[in-house]
Amino acid sequence: MDTKAFKRSLQQSNNYHRKGFGHETEVMGTMNTEYQSSLIQKIRENNYQWQEGDVTIKLAEAFGFCWGVERAVAMAYETRQHFPTEKIWITNEIIHNPSVNQRLLEMNVGFIEVINGSKDFSVVETGDVVILPAFGASVTEMQLLNDKGCTIVDTTCPWVSKVWNSVEKHKKKDYTSIIHGKYKHEETVATSSFAGTYLVVLNLKEAQYVCDYILNGGNKDEFLEKFKNAHSEGFDPDKDLIRLGIANQTTMLKSETEQIGKLFETTMLKKYGPTELNEHFMSFNTICDATQERQDAMLNLVEEEVNVMVVIGGFNSSNTTHLQEISIEKGIDSYHIDSEKRILPGNKIEHKPLEKDIETKENWLPDGKIIVGVTSGASTPDKVVEAVIERIFEEKNASVLV
Ligand code: SF4
Repeated sequence: MDTKAFKRSLQQSNNYHRKGFGHETEVMGTMNTEYQSSLIQKIRENNYQWQEGDVTIKLAEAFGFCWGVERAVAMAYETRQHFPTEKIWITNEIIHNPSVNQRLLEMNVGFIEVINGSKDFSVVETGDVVILPAFGASVTEMQLLNDKGCTIVDTTCPWVSKVWNSVEKHKKKDYTSIIHGKYKHEETVATSSFAGTYLVVLNLKEAQYVCDYILNGGNKDEFLEKFKNAHSEGFDPDKDLIRLGIANQTTMLKSETEQIGKLFETTMLKKYGPTELNEHFMSFNTICDATQERQDAMLNLVEEEVNVMVVIGGFNSSNTTHLQEISIEKGIDSYHIDSEKRILPGNKIEHKPLEKDIETKENWLPDGKIIVGVTSGASTPDKVVEAVIERIFEEKNASVLV
C-alpha cells in the first residue's frame, strides 16, 4: 500500500482531526484539577527536595507527563466535549497510565478490546468517533476506521510521526529500516506498518548479532528464527541488510539507540568503506526530547545520595521501565510501582522487578533517616507522584510511632 498517499488523503478528509476543537482553556482547567499537584509544585520550587520527619524526597529534575502525553489526554477530553452524544472509542490505552485510562472510562470512552491477540473492531459503527492514542495506530487500523466511516481524532505525538516520516524516507530510497524497539509495542507496530522492509532489534546484543551477520554471514534459518515476528514479510538477511536506515521507538533508552545507530554505521563503514557509506546507511535524529530529558535527569539522580529509589509509571510503559533500568544498573534498591496503592501498611511494597512479575518486598524502607529518590514516566500525572510521596511519609511516620 502507498502509506504516504493514504495518510495524505486521510488528512484531507473532513472526518479526520489532529488538532483540538477549541475547548483548550476549559479542558486545561479540568486537567489541572485532576492531574496537577500543589505538593509537587512546592518540591519543584524547593530545588526538587522535600523533607518530612525522617524522610527526604529527592525528585528527578525532569519527570512525569511529557507534552505529547498531555496533548493526547487534552485532545481526548476535548473530543468528549465536542461530541457529547456520540459513541467514542480509543484504539488502545491513550497512554500507559491506569488512572488516566480509568478517568476516560468514567467519561464513557470505550477501549477496543483485544480478543485472542487481535483488536475487536466489530463494536465500532459508522459515525462513531475513534481516538488514536499518543503512540499512534497502524496504517491498517486507520484504513479500517476510515472505511467504516468513523470520525478519527488522531492524538499521535508529533515525535512519533517524525519517526514514521523517517521510515517513509527509507522506504522511498529502498533502504531497510532497522527499528530499535519492542516489536509488540503499539508504537513499533505502528511504525513498522509505515515501513517497507524492516527489522526490529530490541537491544545492543541483537544489533551486534545482525552486524556480525552483515560482516561475516551466518546461518539464515537461525537468523530468521531469532527475529521471528520482528521483521517484514519475506525478509531475507542475505538481501535486505545491504542498505540500512535507523529508526526507533521514541521511548527506548536513548544511549542504547545512539549506540545501535553507531554500531550499524561502523559496520557499514567496515563493509563498504567511507566513500560508499552514504549509499548504505542513513540516520535521522528521532530521539524524543522528553524521553531524553527524563533519562538524563535520572542519570543525574542516581549519582546523588539516595537510599531507595521509587520509579512510578504503568507496568507496560516502556519509558518508565528504562528509568528503572538506569537505577538498577547503578545498584540502587529501586521499586517500579504504578500507584500509591502498591505501598502497603507494615512497610511492604508491591513492585515489578525488571523482566519479572509483581512481587512483594517487606521492610523496603530502611530504618532511621532516609533519602528516597523519586521519578516517574512520561505517562504519569503529578497527582499520582504526590500520592506516592504522601504514602511514603505516612508509612515512615507510622513506623516511628510504633
Ligand atoms: S515520550 Fe516523547 S514521543 Fe512519547 S508522547 Fe511524550 S513527547 Fe511524544
